[in-house]
Amino acid sequence: MNDGVRARGRAIVAGAGIVGLSTALSLRRAGFEVAVRERAPQVRQTGAGLGIWQHTITELERLGLGPRLSEIKAELSFDRFRDPSGAVLDVGDMPPGRVVHRRRLGALLVSAVGEENIRTGREVVDYTEDEAGIVVHYAGGDQERADLLVGADGLNSRVRRRLIPGSESHYDEEGHHVWRAVLPFDGDLGDGYPTIGHHRTRGTVMRLADGSCFWVLAQFGVTGEFAGSPKQEAVARVENLHDGPARCVLREVVLATPEDSVLDNQVAVVPEIPRWKSNRVVLAGDAAHAMSPHIGSGASLGIEDAYVLGDRLGRTDIASALDSYQTDRMARYRQVRRHAKAMATAPTPASYVELFSRYLNWLNNTAA
Ligand SMILES: Cc1cc2nc3c(=O)[nH]c(=O)nc-3n(C[C@H](O)[C@H](O)[C@H](O)COP(=O)(O)OP(=O)(O)OC[C@H]3O[C@@H](n4cnc5c(N)ncnc54)[C@H](O)[C@@H]3O)c2cc1C
Repeated sequence: MNDGVRARGRAIVAGAGIVGLSTALSLRRAGFEVAVRERAPQVRQTGAGLGIWQHTITELERLGLGPRLSEIKAELSFDRFRDPSGAVLDVGDMPPGRVVHRRRLGALLVSAVGEENIRTGREVVDYTEDEAGIVVHYAGGDQERADLLVGADGLNSRVRRRLIPGSESHYDEEGHHVWRAVLPFDGDLGDGYPTIGHHRTRGTVMRLADGSCFWVLAQFGVTGEFAGSPKQEAVARVENLHDGPARCVLREVVLATPEDSVLDNQVAVVPEIPRWKSNRVVLAGDAAHAMSPHIGSGASLGIEDAYVLGDRLGRTDIASALDSYQTDRMARYRQVRRHAKAMATAPTPASYVELFSRYLNWLNNTAA
C-alpha cells in the first residue's frame, strides 16, 4: 500500500475497524507502506447506525472517501429534543450531525484501503521493540517486522494491555445500556426529535440514506439481570419516554423490528491511561479511549486520531510525531470525557440537552 512511491517506513495497523482502516489511509498519505492485520476471519462492521459530526465527514473526505461518502450519509439534526410531556426543548444553535450505516462506511473504507493490504485471521498477541523498529507477534507464532505499530484493536486491545499492563476495560460506572436496530420501515417517522425521558432513558428514530430506519434506546443506571428478550426490554424502555397516550413512533418501530435484529450492549469503557505510545507503538480509537456512546463521539474521536496521526507523521520523524500526537489527542480526549460525565449525570432533560449543545459547539469549534 505505497502507491509506487518509496515509502518513509512500514507501518502495521492492528485492527480493521473504522479507526484502523481510517488510520491506514492516513498513514498512506503520510508516505508509509501500510499493512492492516485483523483478528477476525472477515472484515465486517457490526452494529447499526453511527452518528458522526460534520468535521469527521471532512476528515474522512480528506482521507480520500470523498464523493462516495455523500451516498451513505444522512442529516442528523439536534436542534430540538422532547421531554416526556412532549414539550419541545429548543436548544438553538447546534451543529448538525450525520448518520451513516456502519456496514456501508466499513465497506467504503475497505475498498479505499484495498483488500490486498488487509490480512484477516491475524491476531496480534505481542510485540517487541528495539532501536531499529518493532516485531509484531501473531497467534500461531508468526512474526512481522515494521517501523511502527498502531494499536487500533478496539476495547480489549492487546496492544494497549501490552503497553500499559493492567489497563483492562470495564463496564461504564453509570450502568449504561443500549438497544438498537436497523430495519426496513416505510411508515412516517414523525419529526424525529430525540426524546430525553424518565429514569435516565433516551430514545430516537431516524431515516438512513438508503431509506432504512435506525432506532436507538439507551438508559443509565441499569442493574441486574433482564427478564425479557432484548426486544421486550427495549419495548419496556419506550414507556419512559412519554407521559400520555399520544402516538409514539418509536414504539411502533421497535414493535416492527424482528426479534433477532435488536442489538443490545452493556456499555464498557477503557480507563484513562497515562500514555498512548512508546517509541514505535501508538494507540488509536477505542483501543486508547473507548467511552460511553451517549456523547456520540467514540468513532468521531477515533477518526480524528487517525487523521492527526497521519498529519504528524507526514511532517516529522516517528518519535517526534508520536509525541505530538499523544499531547494533542490525550488533551482532547480528557475534554470529551469531562463533557460526557457531565451529561451522564444531568438532572433534567433540559439540562442534558443544554450540556449536549455546549459540547457539540465546543467539538465543532475545536476540530482538527
Ligand atoms: C451501542 C454503541 C453505540 C455507539 N454509537 C456511536 C455513535 O453514534 N457515534 C460514535 O462516534 N461512536 C459510537 N460508538 C462508539 C464506536 O462504535 C466506537 O468508538 C468505534 O466503532 C471504535 O472503532 P475502532 O476501530 O477503534 O474499534 P472496533 O470497531 O472495535 O475495531 C477493532 C478491530 O480490531 C480487531 N481486533 C481486536 N483485537 C485484535 C488483535 N489482537 N489483533 C488484530 N485485530 C484485532 C477487531 O476484530 C476489530 O475489527 C458506539 C458504541 C456503542 C457500543
